[in-house]
Amino acid sequence: MINRNVVTRFAPSPTGYMHIGNLRTALYSYLIAKHSDGTFILRIEDTDRERLVEGATDVIIDTLKVTGLRYDEGPGVGGANGPYIQSERKEIYLRYAKELVERGTAYYCFCSKERLESLHKEDGIGGGYDRHCRDLPKEEVEANLKAGIPYVIRQKIPLEGTTTYEDAVFGTISTENKELQDQILMKADGYPTYNFCHVVDDHLMGVTHIVRGSEYLPSTPKYALLYDAFGWQRPVFVHLPLLMGRGEDGTVSKLSKRHGAVSFADLTADGYLPEAIVNYIALLGWCPKNTENEFFTLDELTEAFSLDGINKSPSVFDYEKLLWFNGEYIRKLTPEEFRKRALPFISVSLASDKLDRILPLVQPRIGKLSEIDGKIAFFSALPVYDAAELFHNKKNKVTPEVASGMLPGIVSALKKVSEWNNDTLFAALTAFAEESAIKSGAVLFVARAAVSGLTVTPGGATEIMEILGKNETLERLRIATERLG
Ligand code: GLU
Ligand code: ZN
Repeated sequence: MINRNVVTRFAPSPTGYMHIGNLRTALYSYLIAKHSDGTFILRIEDTDRERLVEGATDVIIDTLKVTGLRYDEGPGVGGANGPYIQSERKEIYLRYAKELVERGTAYYCFCSKERLESLHKEDGIGGGYDRHCRDLPKEEVEANLKAGIPYVIRQKIPLEGTTTYEDAVFGTISTENKELQDQILMKADGYPTYNFCHVVDDHLMGVTHIVRGSEYLPSTPKYALLYDAFGWQRPVFVHLPLLMGRGEDGTVSKLSKRHGAVSFADLTADGYLPEAIVNYIALLGWCPKNTENEFFTLDELTEAFSLDGINKSPSVFDYEKLLWFNGEYIRKLTPEEFRKRALPFISVSLASDKLDRILPLVQPRIGKLSEIDGKIAFFSALPVYDAAELFHNKKNKVTPEVASGMLPGIVSALKKVSEWNNDTLFAALTAFAEESAIKSGAVLFVARAAVSGLTVTPGGATEIMEILGKNETLERLRIATERLG
């Protein structure tokens, strides 16, 4: 066997946002190349002109940048086999399609739209083309071309026999040729179909491993036949397992919006970190060997990744698990890095020095960055609360009456504190608890509820009080006293 340098590509169509499934394809493609020090190519497949979405290519390029999937060849980077945008390679495809016609493995089809539509009606199941033009006499073809009759070029699929290929994940796939259609290679608008141009490009770009979703499994025999028709070496086909989502009723179906955010941009906008997303989706269809560890940087993934670790059974995208992963990643950030990532998610207005003291309280307590605002809003404004409901705590035997009795003592203990910080405040409150023979847990609960208006907060009573400052703390205690009536 010739030992070829591994070349993979990510070949998205710029038809919208970056779906998580597409990102996983890009990731696996990248990892397969980089694990072997190979080449990773980005190619934009934009020959389906009706489905183009403006700005979609930028989204793809940005996503690859943010996730660290650096490509060696592609738009903006260049490379020996460019251009890397298919609409800029248009002439190439017609040339190759004509070569197939010459070789007798493709043919011109002059059928009108109306004729093709009537075929679909007749067979009732929207089936295929009846191969009407497959054996037109050469003279007729030439006359039609000369007369300028619009045409498409179709692949001439063998009428008998089977086509077999090896998939690195799904094994041997055999298809009866009579199941395959004489698919269109070149369209009437002069653009090639995906079915054709990706094969030409993969060959010309030296792609050795084709990594893509398993929805392409059934059409791959036709692609294999194209390689054979040209006399080109077939690449290794690597089809990835389906990505599923779990519905509320527990049923599993193809991952879609009803399961939750499905685009990379939606997830990052919701406060998931790119590196956590990458790590999590790496495990959706691939299983690391000889380790229980689930945490991998991109470099570690590159090191550990292997083709035979890819499973063929569908993977279920588990939002809970991603949230947990993300929380772990958030906790690992340095305080400076956390601040940088958190800032875009904070709309609560707070002075910068206050924020510096609040953020360390939040960092260990969130799953995603979009949770921050809700957790810190009480620092900037005391929530409206019902005192009769708030001041209840079973464990510490706190009731509104108990709280009401305690507050004057808490206030006078705090008024005496001159140097206002967590330690002095804590000492003052525990001293008060001891003097009054109350459990310090009860005092701290009442104090915390009063200054935050909440029963669950990032940080304890005195940490919060330190940040609020003396005036604001005493004001909030006054309000609590008032509300408790
Ligand atoms: N443009 C195709 C898509 O976005 C590429 C499939 C492939 O990788 O061959 O699905
Ligand atoms: Zn025809």
